[in-house]
Amino acid sequence: MKVKSENEPGVVADVVCDMCGVSARGQAGHLQYGTMRAAWGEGSAHDGEVYELHLCESCFFAQVSAMKRERWLGVFLEEEGDSILRNDTYGLVRKFEASDDASEQPDIPD
Ligand SMILES: [Zn+2]
Repeated sequence: MKVKSENEPGVVADVVCDMCGVSARGQAGHLQYGTMRAAWGEGSAHDGEVYELHLCESCFFAQVSAMKRERWLGVFLEEEGDSILRNDTYGLVRKFEASDDASEQPDIPD
């Protein structure tokens, strides 16, 4: 959950992990978090509902691990099963370069 600044309403002062409740501000002082978003449309059970959850690094990768495990359970007897467990880039879109501004999260393509 994003916590807005009391003095500057448009500014995000902190991000609190929606899973563990801890601030997502890292040791270097930068906010480090993952975002899970959904906007459900016509034909879905949650039509018209929009969600946005924020996860600290630890909880984000716990969720990635849980997703990999769920996926693996569905296919572990098939050839694809082993590749899912060995995939260290599950869900990874790209890595940003060291020269990127570390104070901002990289753009995530839609
Ligand atoms: Zn957390």
